[in-house]
Amino acid sequence: MSHALLDPADALQIIREASTQTPTESCPGAAVLGRILRQPVVSASDLPPFDNSAMDGYALGGGVEPLRAGSEWGIEGEQAAGDAMRGNAHGAWEIMTGARMPDGLDRVIPLEQTERLDNPPRTRLLADVAAGQNVRFAGSDVAAGTSVMAAGTLLAPQHLMLLAALGVDSVQVAARPRVAVLCTGRELVDHPTTPLAAGQIRNSNGPFLTARLPLAGADLTHAETVGDDVDAFVAAVARARTSGAQVIISTGAVSMGRYDFVPVALQQLGAQVLFHKVAIRPGKPLLFARLPDGTLFFGLPGNPVAVAVGLRFFVEPALRTMLGLSPERPWQVPLAAAYSKKPRLDMYLKSRLEINRQGQLAAIALTGQESYRIRPLAEANAWIRIPLEASELPAGSPVDVYGPGHLESPSWVWSSGE
Ligand code: AMP
Ligand code: MG
Repeated sequence: MSHALLDPADALQIIREASTQTPTESCPGAAVLGRILRQPVVSASDLPPFDNSAMDGYALGGGVEPLRAGSEWGIEGEQAAGDAMRGNAHGAWEIMTGARMPDGLDRVIPLEQTERLDNPPRTRLLADVAAGQNVRFAGSDVAAGTSVMAAGTLLAPQHLMLLAALGVDSVQVAARPRVAVLCTGRELVDHPTTPLAAGQIRNSNGPFLTARLPLAGADLTHAETVGDDVDAFVAAVARARTSGAQVIISTGAVSMGRYDFVPVALQQLGAQVLFHKVAIRPGKPLLFARLPDGTLFFGLPGNPVAVAVGLRFFVEPALRTMLGLSPERPWQVPLAAAYSKKPRLDMYLKSRLEINRQGQLAAIALTGQESYRIRPLAEANAWIRIPLEASELPAGSPVDVYGPGHLESPSWVWSSGE
């Protein structure tokens, strides 16, 4: 019996439909890094909070006409950052950058455009100074009541800077999807210094997934390695559930081999298999299921690059839906060299995005695309996707390029108007 492979676009649709948005939760300002805003941040106050000087110099007052070079002004006081001043000032005030403008004064002339004279202490202007010059007005950066960050913003240190400046101590963010990882294979050795017995290999999928998932916005609740044994696997799924996982990812044992027991285990668990085997390379045996309690289950094949592709292109879209983010959009980048394949599978290529001396961006498919080869993945900084129907692509053909993770993807540069 021949199995028609599922089109990856259909697989994605099934994944998105099965994924539900996580709740919104309040997150303290100091812990917002890497979180996704669910509600826009609206400033309750002005930034800067008061009119202040942009320069070290002299604050002066005056009407609409500029004060002219050559005029002299008696020095009446000094105003430093942090000084509060009340009452009406007149004459010239020596002022420091960031100091509140003395009431009644409306412009600042930089120190280097003045000459200091004594008896009585006064300053002579060496340049004209117009009203408002070198003053940073209250609310000129952010006016109270305006929205400064949109829902869907991935919060980074620059957002923390703005939140801190505005005195915002908590924001509404998407709860992190809780994810557990189960690696299968009796050949696997977890501890990095345990000597390998004949036939054993080190578990590289586990460390990859546990490192990558938090970068993808998930909360890793559980990770363990089990042998090729249905009962041990079923018990591990139970532990993953107990840890609170909403998504379980397994690696290995979903293909056609004698020890590929994951489909059997899922049947025992009463899971509904939503698809098994997709027209992709690497990672064709990909399986997606829902456990009776609603937990989503991704069975990724064991080859390390199949794991990376399964996570990047099938698990991460589920995480995006759960986080409330719209589907990712790739960059279109010209291929550095011709590429050909059979028009049968969607290909995900370990690749490098490079900019040449002329400033042109090109996507280079790395050599060593086999799914067991980890080294090119470590050299890659992007993925090229060659769609199902494509076959011969000459050098320079635009192709879809994705960043290493959906939250590290170039898609964030798309203008919001598009
Ligand atoms: P499987 O899908 O279980 O048949 O595994 C396919 C290939 O991936 C085999 O060569 C496995 O030894 C290898 N493999 C499976 N799991 C891991 C893992 N966690 N780390 C590294 N290689 C693995
Ligand atoms: Mg295996």
